[in-house]
Amino acid sequence: MWTGELLRDRLAFTLDAEGLLRLSYQDSQRDDWEHGVLWVRHGQDRSGTHKWKAINTPRTRLMMRDYLCMVCTGPCSDRETARVSWLLVDDPEISPDGQPVTNVPPTCTSCIPEALEACPKLGEHSRVITVAGAKPIAFAADLFKPSAIDGTPMKIAHEVNIPLDAGNVLRGALAKHLWVELLDMRAAPRPQRQPTSSL
Ligand SMILES: [Zn+2]
Repeated sequence: MWTGELLRDRLAFTLDAEGLLRLSYQDSQRDDWEHGVLWVRHGQDRSGTHKWKAINTPRTRLMMRDYLCMVCTGPCSDRETARVSWLLVDDPEISPDGQPVTNVPPTCTSCIPEALEACPKLGEHSRVITVAGAKPIAFAADLFKPSAIDGTPMKIAHEVNIPLDAGNVLRGALAKHLWVELLDMRAAPRPQRQPTSSL
């Protein structure tokens, strides 16, 4: 993400339809919520300086949801097979019930050669795979609770992984990125770079 995309929108605990406290933005909007949890807001203007390690949460949410390439934002689903191409830095993480999971969006086959050349971390351990789909199972989030003095949100945990079915824990969570289970994961050949000019 870019440094100019950091926002300072204020958080608040408000009562939901069930009359229970829940973390929200002071000017809450429908798109702030997905999978029953509040998500970090970021701008989309790509201003300031690019930070490689920081992710833009709304952009990443969209890439994960619609299988869009993290390099070019194009579709990652094969037109004929509907399988989604993915590039992993290493073997996938494994969920508590033994399934492969990732928190990185997919990469389209056109961009995989470029990504392998550009990123030094994508060395010999990287894996090109295809999947039948990706199922949201968890998210990384900061946790908040209302302060005893005036009820304003106080951060009590930084970037912890929480299952989507964690129940009341979701009420105090501000999600940063999603974890998805990779369904029917299969190894795929490394795509070759397309020639860019003809002689
Ligand atoms: Zn791409």
